[in-house]
Amino acid sequence: MNSDKLLLDGTRVAHQIQQDLAIRVSQLAAKGIQPCLVTILVGDDPSSETYVRMKGNACRRLGIQSRRIHLAQTTTTEELIAVIHEMNQDSYVHGILLQHPVPPQIDERAAFEAISIHKDVDGVTMLGFAQNAFGEASFPSCTPAAILAILDDYQIPIEGKHAVVIGRSPILGKPVSLMLLNRNATVTICHSRTVGLDHIVGLADILVAAVGKPAFVQGSWIKEGAVVIDAGYNSGNIGDVDYEACLTKSSAITPVPGGVGPVTIAMLLKHTVDAAEKVGQ
Ligand code: NAP
Repeated sequence: MNSDKLLLDGTRVAHQIQQDLAIRVSQLAAKGIQPCLVTILVGDDPSSETYVRMKGNACRRLGIQSRRIHLAQTTTTEELIAVIHEMNQDSYVHGILLQHPVPPQIDERAAFEAISIHKDVDGVTMLGFAQNAFGEASFPSCTPAAILAILDDYQIPIEGKHAVVIGRSPILGKPVSLMLLNRNATVTICHSRTVGLDHIVGLADILVAAVGKPAFVQGSWIKEGAVVIDAGYNSGNIGDVDYEACLTKSSAITPVPGGVGPVTIAMLLKHTVDAAEKVGQ
């Protein structure tokens, strides 16, 4: 790594967030409250199983209770929603995470919408999205929140900057675009039908790559001195940007792994603790 480049170390940022959370968890324990996150996994997708296990382990390390519900691949929308309603009613449960993706027979949007807004710690409901758009979300989507947390931790200015986001998914590209807009960036959102993507990326002061294609963003597209946030995660620990080539042009960049990923998990824990504190007030 060139000494004039800033490596945006997500592992360090996540560690800092979790240290702060550990204090809050012990304060809750003194009141007899243990934050509890329920993860719901439907089916047997190995990557999803890994993600759910990582989230559960992160909870336990911090003293947050992690309850895991594993439903069969053949689960119907109605059966899944019934489980979510049960968790909504359970006063010991503070956060509900339905692992994406669910099997194709399930109406994922209907299942997400069944999650109580008070327990939507992963920011997947339409109401949560709308609150985020207004800058008022209790629990914004975790990866967008992680991206903002990294920029803030490194005191990277957002206001007045041109932020280009590649990707418009409801959990990542759209909400992070709105959060950057709410912080007074000028935001351009790109997607698969964007014409002249390389030119638009070349105008970015801050680039967020959320494409889902390994090493997709080329170094030659990047403006000299841009900040590059790689939200992508593809098999083989490969992000959505060509790291070595983008490193050469950027002033700061997140690695994969060790960038956005660990902070995303830290944000999920933070939202669960936030939710438990609200109940405990
Ligand atoms: P997604 O739902 O598949 O969305 C991908 C987006 O990229 C879509 O908006 C798509 O455009 C756009 N896109 C696809 N091909 C493109 C192209 N050739 N040019 C420009 N845009 C293109 O993916 P996602 O769930 O947002 O995830 C994006 C990435 O983030 C993945 O690598 C995923 O693994 C990663 N991720 C990481 C975390 C984390 O914790 N670090 C969490 C969630 C996701 P259209 O809308 O036109 O199809």
